[in-house]
Amino acid sequence: MVPPPTIPHNRPQITAEDELAVAQVLRSGWITSGPQVRALEQAFAAMLGGGGACAVSSGTAALFLALRDLGIGAGDLVAVPTYACSALLNAVLMLGARPAVVEVRGDDFTIDAGRIQPEARAVIAVHAYGATADVAACGRHGARVIEDCCQSLGGPQGRCGDAAVYSFSATKIVAAGQGGLVWHADPGLAEAARDYREFDCRETYEPRFNFLMADINAALALSQFARLNAIRARRRAIRAAYEAVRPASLAVQAGFGDESVLPYRYVLRFPDASARDDARARFAEAGVRAAIPIERYELLHVYLGLDPAAYPEAERIVATTLSLPLFPAMTDAEVARVACVLESLT
Ligand SMILES: *Cc1c(COP(=O)(O)O)cnc(C)c1O
Repeated sequence: MVPPPTIPHNRPQITAEDELAVAQVLRSGWITSGPQVRALEQAFAAMLGGGGACAVSSGTAALFLALRDLGIGAGDLVAVPTYACSALLNAVLMLGARPAVVEVRGDDFTIDAGRIQPEARAVIAVHAYGATADVAACGRHGARVIEDCCQSLGGPQGRCGDAAVYSFSATKIVAAGQGGLVWHADPGLAEAARDYREFDCRETYEPRFNFLMADINAALALSQFARLNAIRARRRAIRAAYEAVRPASLAVQAGFGDESVLPYRYVLRFPDASARDDARARFAEAGVRAAIPIERYELLHVYLGLDPAAYPEAERIVATTLSLPLFPAMTDAEVARVACVLESLT
């Protein structure tokens, strides 16, 4: 018997409506930044109940602008969780600011707000795989807080900080190939972001990156955003299917009790690295691609050569976690195959 094809860790869901939305832009004669980008910005401002939005070329660009608009520049201290994507470091360092790398919590993998240096002028609070970071605690000492919503969308997240950033790259919740968006509670700061983005035909010169998003990508993002409720329901249903069979002896990332929180990943936590590696091999034998969502070498304190003894929780997370496929394009048969392996783990 021919074995069924391997289930990937992620696969984008592109519907006939998505294809049509992109085709309409291609036929319109206007493929760069234009009406689709403006509509995407309006959709996000509406979702977040006000403020202002600026769509850009990536989540990294959104982080860079969020910090810059909030007045962060050379020498300023910006707190970032160590268990996060290198985009955070890139945004901070490209502004000439100083990253203060902070430990994360062992249960939900979000920044440990109690360890944020009081001198930090800004904090990037990542909603890790969808789990909600404690935004209020991040701002306790007066720092500006940027909610990194690249792995979360809708619900309560994004409305509590000074700014929020989103990514539309290929594996995210809204997957438009590439793209990002920065939202500011203060509409004037969103205006500053849009002004930065206009690099062409300026009367006075200042050095700028080209952060423009194309309407081709914005149309794809908008088309997916229009079915966010269905995306949300499908992701929650897949998570529920896994939770129904997860052996009691096996832990999973915390932070998804609240129905309004959208699960971006389903991350198992094993007692040690060898149990994790054994389980990964079991999934591979069954044709399921389970992934280590962040490897040790990617931890921000490792990139910066900081003392690992200060980050025991992050070190434990990278050694013991495994992420199962969880994406709306999964078929029910694929979900059942993954669940079957999960159920057999002890
Ligand atoms: C993907 C991601 C980013 C960066 O977004 P890009 O569009 O890839 O630049 C930033 N932060 C988090 C948490 C992400 O998951």
